[in-house]
Amino acid sequence: MSKVLVVEDEQHLADGLRFNLEAEGYQVHVTDTGESALEALKSDPSAFDVVVLDVMLPGKDGFSVMSEMRGGGQFVPTLMLTARGHPNDILKGFAAGADDYLTKPFDLAILIARIRGLLRRREWLTSSLNASSTSGATTPLQDVFTFGDKSVDFDRLELRVREQIFPLTLMEANVLRYLIRHEGKPVSRKKMLEEVWNLHEDTDTRAIDNFIVRLRRYIEDDPAKPRHVLTVRGVGYRFVAVPDKKD
Ligand code: CA
Repeated sequence: MSKVLVVEDEQHLADGLRFNLEAEGYQVHVTDTGESALEALKSDPSAFDVVVLDVMLPGKDGFSVMSEMRGGGQFVPTLMLTARGHPNDILKGFAAGADDYLTKPFDLAILIARIRGLLRRREWLTSSLNASSTSGATTPLQDVFTFGDKSVDFDRLELRVREQIFPLTLMEANVLRYLIRHEGKPVSRKKMLEEVWNLHEDTDTRAIDNFIVRLRRYIEDDPAKPRHVLTVRGVGYRFVAVPDKKD
């Protein structure tokens, strides 16, 4: 039975979420502050399969909770609930490490579908990992991109840099996949917003820059002098798999 942690301080909404998620067969734990959510996740990192995290919370807000989770190595799939009409909140959520979002007020059926999507991804990941470790004969179809001494495993959501492994959030993997797919070509921030985040509003695109800063920290040997994820002035970014051997 999948376990969902709901972080929501509006009692009626929390009750509604619990009722509907339990009706779907999930085990639900509701908490009304970010602090208590972090506590619950810290005491047992594998206690939950998915987290539904509201942005507006008393005390620590959802963005801080999200960053602390990811900063602390907690990579449980997380869906954030943001206020409608604030695309920057959505980007801020993704920049903090969210995997998905819904704007309030939302349709419960949609929320459940999104949760199912996050869980499916996770279950599929786990089963493909088990399959690859038990049977040497059948190699599961792998979705790995290698560049230099680094490789991104899009199935496992991992970035390997030499012997180090960095877990990626779904969204980080999506951004990286998008850049890699357009290898060598500049991609605009606006296009990335539309095609990766599905955001069409006139949005402050700086949140993308925060995202890129994070990716560079994993990918680049010197994040201050990027060689793979380059800034294209006035446009956006360009991914280079094999940088020139100069300098
Ligand atoms: Ca709230």
